[in-house]
Amino acid sequence: MPRRGAPLPVLGRDVTVPLVTGGEVTYAALDYAASAPALQRVWDDVAAYAPYYGSVHRGAGYLSQLSTDLFESSRATVHAFLDCREDDQVVFTRSTTDSLNLLAGALPDGCEVFVFETEHHASLLPWTNARVTYLDAPRTPQQAVRTLESALAGRDLSVPALVCVTGASNVTGELWPVRELAAASHAHGARIVLDAAQLVPHHPVSVRDLDVDWVAFSGHKLYAPFGSGVLAGRTDWLRDAEPYLAGGGASRTVARRADGGVDVEWHTSAARHEAGSPNVIGVYAIASACRALTEAGFDALVDRERHLVEKVLTGLAEVPGVRVLSLFGGDTPARSEGDTRARAAAGTAGRVGVVSFVVDGWNSSHLAAALSAEYGIGVRDGLFCAHPLVRTLLGGDPGQPGECGAPEAVPGERGEAAAPAAEGAGRPLNAIRVSFGAGT
Ligand code: PMP
Repeated sequence: MPRRGAPLPVLGRDVTVPLVTGGEVTYAALDYAASAPALQRVWDDVAAYAPYYGSVHRGAGYLSQLSTDLFESSRATVHAFLDCREDDQVVFTRSTTDSLNLLAGALPDGCEVFVFETEHHASLLPWTNARVTYLDAPRTPQQAVRTLESALAGRDLSVPALVCVTGASNVTGELWPVRELAAASHAHGARIVLDAAQLVPHHPVSVRDLDVDWVAFSGHKLYAPFGSGVLAGRTDWLRDAEPYLAGGGASRTVARRADGGVDVEWHTSAARHEAGSPNVIGVYAIASACRALTEAGFDALVDRERHLVEKVLTGLAEVPGVRVLSLFGGDTPARSEGDTRARAAAGTAGRVGVVSFVVDGWNSSHLAAALSAEYGIGVRDGLFCAHPLVRTLLGGDPGQPGECGAPEAVPGERGEAAAPAAEGAGRPLNAIRVSFGAGT
């Protein structure tokens, strides 16, 4: 019996948008990998709590105590959601980027970092104070493990090391062999942090089962768009590090010294890295999303999403000139011989609800603009903050950064009818991404 359930209610489902051709249409949100819409449940929970909002950890008043309870019980909810080890810590941050920068600032002296060049920039770039080894793009999950193993082999075990790896790609949607990469890391005395930004909205994540040392994710991709993120995992490196931000909340005692300076005793708990008044609404929203997804059941969510991925791949396989981008599965050219359904089903395994593609002879930005203007479909075009990965997938230097920061100049105006555009040397400059999830 199929377990596939209904989509979870999300905000913005009934929004209508104008079309350039006249009239309007219900908006199709297919950009979950950038930011997923809020679950109605999250919105309702936040609205129910908002009137009682108070300062956290500081007030004797009833509302302050209520907020502190909600803040700390949210920490426990996230701890359970990630199936953390008992003594793991959940630190609340602003986002995945913030979490990984926090960890980067907590690396022990001399730490080496190993990271695949295919990572999102949030995982690729924060390690500015470490010696970084960038690993070549693997073309299969097995090759990823072999590449890591040979990079770690023979390293000086007295030197601390960290491996940073994504759980699911925000470009191809493909799942990475996290458990195997964690085993390889530990076998060579290295720690591993999982960038789960694209994984947690789609799959259950068990820190114990995957045996990763840390997990980072963002609330806004988990249907909780209120500016919060999580770094969860081992306490030792975090406890020994300088506070991520210095200030109130992170300090246990502060006293003036006789010589005129200041002595500070920092907290050793998660509070050490949470200085300043925390984003209690954002944290509460993350916990609400964790509860909602747990109650909906990941079995049903995964099953449903697999069906949607297959539908997208089948549809794309029927369009002439479409090339779906895949690191692990090879390209899936359209109109290939053979049964498109079978090919789509093959591409579905090991992929979350994220599919990027290019269309021969067409400018991806034009197409994305046309999908919005002519059909009310919101997708993303660009390089998705993973320039080396997309460069590999497109087969060369696309030369036009697209996603990170303000969009680069897109020839033609948004809203003009799509037309095939000449691409430099026949090479696509960037890609289109459709992404979806529990609310689709
Ligand atoms: N890693 C991955 C895999 C992502 O998809 C994203 C967001 N696109 C990030 C990291 C960064 O997340 P944030 O922008 O919320 O910090």
